[in-house]
Amino acid sequence: MKIGKYTLSIINSGYFALDGGAMFGIIPKPLWQKTNPPDDVNRIKLATRNLLLSNGKRKILIDTGMGNKWDEKSKNIYAIDQTNSLEGSLTKLSLTPSDITDVILTHLHFDHTGGSTKIENGKLVPAFPNAKYFVQKKNYDWSIKPFDRDKGSYIKDNFQQLAEEGVLTFIDGEEKFDDEIEFIMANGHTFAQQLIKISDTSNTIFYCADLFPTISHIPIPYVMGYDLQPLVTVEEKKKILIKAVDENWKIFFEHDPETAIATIMKDEKGFKVKDKMIL
Ligand SMILES: [Zn+2]
Repeated sequence: MKIGKYTLSIINSGYFALDGGAMFGIIPKPLWQKTNPPDDVNRIKLATRNLLLSNGKRKILIDTGMGNKWDEKSKNIYAIDQTNSLEGSLTKLSLTPSDITDVILTHLHFDHTGGSTKIENGKLVPAFPNAKYFVQKKNYDWSIKPFDRDKGSYIKDNFQQLAEEGVLTFIDGEEKFDDEIEFIMANGHTFAQQLIKISDTSNTIFYCADLFPTISHIPIPYVMGYDLQPLVTVEEKKKILIKAVDENWKIFFEHDPETAIATIMKDEKGFKVKDKMIL
């Protein structure tokens, strides 16, 4: 698929699993388990699915998955499966990490930034040696001193080295990155998550990150227990879904275990998936 000057490619960077109850907040299990069946310890399968925007000059990666710096204990807790790795997905497109010119990070949670750094000769280094990384300043400020409530989600090895080496560029609020790429702020999940709207005159892809982690999170009350401000998430979801229906946006799901992209419709019961699609 092409939008403006960019060719879009899906980058599969693996799978992991999180507690189904935490993923669906106040929603009773008999409802969510129909679409997202849990394993024997109540975890549901999630993808880490990223997006690559390429043109002649630039190769822009959005988010970097879980990465491979995990110890055995964490691999078991999160059921980390990297049969499809980020690097393997780049290889399929005849690319290497050195080809990536820009990495846009929606926010600094570990399932979005794990692949941003790697260990080389016992030292943390940027995993994309020629890339500039981009994140919201307010999200970075929060990530380096999060509350006890969410500090488990921010692992400094994934991003602090980037700041120290001067390759992390801070963005302040909603702005246009270029003619096609625009950052939309969301503060319900964490503070200053940036969602990525990629559009030209005929098409819009909306990289919704953790505003709608899976297609099961389209209905308004389906808000994650992880969210710091769930009522804010509810308002943000409404605002985005109205636009997505009116302007026929294609929503890109980072974590849905099966569906990468879907369009949205509204009927008397509320918002729901219209069509599922592949790139
Ligand atoms: Zn998150």
